[in-house]
Amino acid sequence: MIYHDSTDFEIRKIQKWLREIMRDTILRIAKVVLPARVKYWEDMKGLHGTGVTVKRLRKNVLGYCTFNNHIALQPFLVIFKQEWTDGVILHEMAHYKYKHHRKSFWNFLSTLIGEDSKMVKAKDDIAMSPYYNYYLYLTKNK
Ligand SMILES: [Zn+2]
Repeated sequence: MIYHDSTDFEIRKIQKWLREIMRDTILRIAKVVLPARVKYWEDMKGLHGTGVTVKRLRKNVLGYCTFNNHIALQPFLVIFKQEWTDGVILHEMAHYKYKHHRKSFWNFLSTLIGEDSKMVKAKDDIAMSPYYNYYLYLTKNK
């Protein structure tokens, strides 16, 4: 990025511009990285869906799985730690088998992760916290 020495990054318009550039860059990277990561886990677990879409989702939605096993992922997932992104991917993949969040779902997710999935979720929430401000910054509208 090239900018003039006197550029004032505190200016609202510049902040907005920067945020847009970051979003575009993140989206471009995410469209390559996330489907590849889903494929990695699908091959690893022998569990296959019908495809992946990377697009901006409603705030606070990181991913979802449709009734016909198509996964949609929030591009901002790529700014988080890989373990955490993997947790979201495995969660959505567990929905290939269970379309709900009842006990059977969590048990199945535990077998996919190889640990107790509720414990992992708590740990992940802590692991995510240092990145949360970036996430908020990127999802801000003005
Ligand atoms: Zn879910």
